[in-house]
Amino acid sequence: MTAFFSSLYVHVPFCIKKCKYCSFYSLPYDEDLEKLYIKAVLKEMEMTKEFPHFLKTVYIGGGTPSCLSMDGLKSLLSGLRKNFKTSRDVEFSVEINPKTLGSEKLDLLKNYGVNRLSIGVQSFNDKELLVLGRIHTADEAMKTVETAFKKGFENISIDLIYGIPAQRLKSWKETLNKAVNTVVSHISVYELSVEETTPLRKELNAGKISLPSQDDIALMYEFASDFLKEKGFKKYEISNFARAGFECKHNISYWLRKPYLGVGPSAHSFIDRKRFHNPSDLFLYASSLTDCKAGWVYDYSVDKVEELKEKIFLGLRMTEGITLKKRCLLEFLKNFEKEKLLTISDNKVKLTDRGMLVSNEIFARVLLHIENCPVCKQE
Ligand code: SF4
Repeated sequence: MTAFFSSLYVHVPFCIKKCKYCSFYSLPYDEDLEKLYIKAVLKEMEMTKEFPHFLKTVYIGGGTPSCLSMDGLKSLLSGLRKNFKTSRDVEFSVEINPKTLGSEKLDLLKNYGVNRLSIGVQSFNDKELLVLGRIHTADEAMKTVETAFKKGFENISIDLIYGIPAQRLKSWKETLNKAVNTVVSHISVYELSVEETTPLRKELNAGKISLPSQDDIALMYEFASDFLKEKGFKKYEISNFARAGFECKHNISYWLRKPYLGVGPSAHSFIDRKRFHNPSDLFLYASSLTDCKAGWVYDYSVDKVEELKEKIFLGLRMTEGITLKKRCLLEFLKNFEKEKLLTISDNKVKLTDRGMLVSNEIFARVLLHIENCPVCKQE
């Protein structure tokens, strides 16, 4: 490895219980599995510590990092501190499930320099939390936010989901209203995505529940955009809103396509213009870490065409937009400009709010164009 990176992602593959909508790789928490995981991830850190780096952002995600035992969490954090050089003003985030975080763990995180918490609230409505199969209540989520703030965490983000079965615009407004009246400085709003293999999909297919209409889902997103802006949370990416200065630097580095290292099962990396990931299986991951190599699975090298495609589906997510000099592509993008889905000014391309609503379709059409256009590929 030669390329320098300044962001580190650590994946923790455990959850107390699988949420009904989730298809991410995670295992039910188990003490023995935790030991296997900690041993393996510390080994991977030991193996990668010599790669050129100086960390400006660290993100421990999952799964549910906060479901690790005190000992497990301590080993993980001290391994990270021991093996990687971090800048003084590092943004150090950890994902939290409200049911799994007590005062002791908060103190531990604070002592190891964690300064940003991303709390999976999802909704402040208990019925909706039940539909999603979350293990916490709205009250517990609220208390976690308050306790964390009292413990000195000033940079707190919460995740919220819209488009939940049985959710109405009214209850979404109530959730957002509660959110802005807390001490949080960052709010992510995600449309519920129900993957094929999940229990929620089965319930939907069996007609036991139904999703809100596409029109209602669009209204929910539009309301969130307007309401959060009015309350001082600026949209800086399709799903992310922050008070000034609280934008997530770690995620911005992904969208700007900066190099990063991911450790832990299923963690992805982008180094030396190559994208690769660890095996999405704890046992395979642990056994793949031999003395001299990790079990990285190579995804693809980022050549000029891939770079252009990534710039579209990552960079265009940000409200800042991207600068494009390719005349052919700019010409093609004018079709979306006519539909008021994006703006083009001095080669700067930005999605409009309407464009953000249908961003996936826009990305798919643009990527297809690049794939099939010899001029775009060569320009
Ligand atoms: S807590 Fe997060 S990672 Fe775990 S099952 Fe729920 S949504 Fe998935």
